[in-house]
Amino acid sequence: MNTYQLQVVENTNKKEKPVKDQVPFGTTFTDHMYVLEYETEKGWYDPKIVPYGPISLDPAAMIFHYGQTVFEGMKAYHTEDGRVLLFRPEKNFERLNLSSERLSIPALDEKLALEHLTALIKLEKDWVPKTPGTSLYIRPYIISTDANLAVGPSQTYKYMVILSPVGSYFPGGLQPVVIHVEDKFTRAVKGGTGMAKTAGNYSSGYQAQANAKKEGNADVLWLDGVEKKYIEEVGSMNIFFKINGEVITPELNGSILKGITRMSIIELLDTWGIKVTEKRMSIDELYEAYDAGHVEEVFGTGTAAVISPVGELNWKGKKMIVNNHEIGELSQKIYDTITGIQTGKIEDTLGWTVEVK
Ligand SMILES: *Cc1c(COP(=O)(O)O)cnc(C)c1O
Repeated sequence: MNTYQLQVVENTNKKEKPVKDQVPFGTTFTDHMYVLEYETEKGWYDPKIVPYGPISLDPAAMIFHYGQTVFEGMKAYHTEDGRVLLFRPEKNFERLNLSSERLSIPALDEKLALEHLTALIKLEKDWVPKTPGTSLYIRPYIISTDANLAVGPSQTYKYMVILSPVGSYFPGGLQPVVIHVEDKFTRAVKGGTGMAKTAGNYSSGYQAQANAKKEGNADVLWLDGVEKKYIEEVGSMNIFFKINGEVITPELNGSILKGITRMSIIELLDTWGIKVTEKRMSIDELYEAYDAGHVEEVFGTGTAAVISPVGELNWKGKKMIVNNHEIGELSQKIYDTITGIQTGKIEDTLGWTVEVK
């Protein structure tokens, strides 16, 4: 048997699909998963779609000890006319390889990864929920599997993809959130791993997020790790500001994740004749603009919510109320347009969607 040919082992014991489309994020998984192996001498080999289920790893597997791992997050959407669309999936595989490079993990063949992802979703098509606002969340990831406690890159890896139907991020419509501006803990520094989607970046934020939640905040806005002065991003979202008519987002400086939603918004606004300024902006500058009455809209951007309007920021006891806790006009328009393209309601003139067929 050719070890590079995709093998499919069908699940003969299929699960019940959730009755309601409002399942909590990341708790329900489909009937199948994708697995690809790596060994230094062979490269990536043995692609398989198999029944979803536990995997067996040696207790010394490197992933458990030194966190050599990367992941991605993307979605498949149902259109009203029964098609299934992916949103710029090639960008996710490009970014997965960038993350892998930073974590000394071998690169995947991006074209083949997309081909095999498409095959998996095709098989699981009935799992893509149809209610407006719902989607099938896609989690590709790579783990290091050598049974070896020596610190250093693994010689073996598993690349896997699991799928999870998700409800609407905002079941009652877009809801502005309250965000704490973090002035004690650090997420990432230049030269670190902030630009990679890797496990350690997230668990290291839990403590700050828990503290912020105790005070009624939904998440934290991270500042730069050196001076705690320049605005970086939210937990798993990039951040945008509309100040005195100008749309601003922090520039990609090596410690910020290069969001595909961020990139798409910059490109979309360009087609509307609105320039997005990517620059370093301090938190003081933002509060000065606020005091002068110039902060019009603030929103987070990411695959999970597309747009998450920010209604309030809290920094060192100073409260910033944005747009009277209401969603801004531009935020709403961006949200409607991108979700419209993702679900086939708006014509995709930018060539962003890929149909699964
Ligand atoms: C995934 C992620 C984002 C958003 O990226 P998208 O490609 O837009 O989903 C932003 N920041 C962090 C830290 C992330 O992990």
